[in-house]
Amino acid sequence: MAQVEAVAEAGLARYTYRLRVSSAARTALAAEWDRCRWVWNECVAKSRTVHLHNKATGPKATCGPAQLDRMLTDARARTPWLRAGASVPQQQVIRDFGRSRAKAQKDIRERLPMARRAGMPKWKTKREALTSKKVVRDHGAIAVEDFRPKFLSRTTMARKAADAAIGATKAALIEMGRKHGRDIRLVHPVHTTMDCAHCDARAKHALPLGERTYTCTVCGAVSPRDKNSARVMLHRAGLNPAGADGARPPGALLQEAA
Ligand SMILES: [Zn+2]
Repeated sequence: MAQVEAVAEAGLARYTYRLRVSSAARTALAAEWDRCRWVWNECVAKSRTVHLHNKATGPKATCGPAQLDRMLTDARARTPWLRAGASVPQQQVIRDFGRSRAKAQKDIRERLPMARRAGMPKWKTKREALTSKKVVRDHGAIAVEDFRPKFLSRTTMARKAADAAIGATKAALIEMGRKHGRDIRLVHPVHTTMDCAHCDARAKHALPLGERTYTCTVCGAVSPRDKNSARVMLHRAGLNPAGADGARPPGALLQEAA
């Protein structure tokens, strides 16, 4: 689906139409979109890191378009995968993010009632089914957090919505895994972000959400936060993390779902 706005002297017209593309074009577009989503999520992470930093030390750091532009330039220089995509849509993502963030901040400054606030820009995720299908296709055994949304506790609506989305993704993953005879193991989720995957030590404090790197104070291991958690979960599921990256058991090709 795409939307086009045409501004004519006579007024404003908006058209919505469906675009049908070839499979090659679809693959190329999906790859572009993957990169754009990655850029967006980096902006979200950066913005949260800056926010937490400012909260701790007083407002000094900023996270405006200039900082985000520099972040993108650095990321493209370091990451061939990102560089393989066009820079224009990625820069557009940064401008879109800046606009969303500015609107959210304006609403906060103007003390708009919570229900009418735009809210800070959030992570973008792929649709659940696509994700779970790919995971199930590529892996023979899957560890899933036995996730229970905190509907009864005092959480914000945004948090509840995010929990619901995560729950839906996991439910889709479990269902598709079982359908295709995969070894699905539910893992108790407590402390998965605090434990060290290398030495099993538990951090004294939970990492703030903006902190994307896990550093173990006991053994000194440093790894991306999500990767550390994933390894902790694999251990708990009784799976071997060493063979986990992109592992597909022989003869376990996914039969096309009907
Ligand atoms: Zn450790």
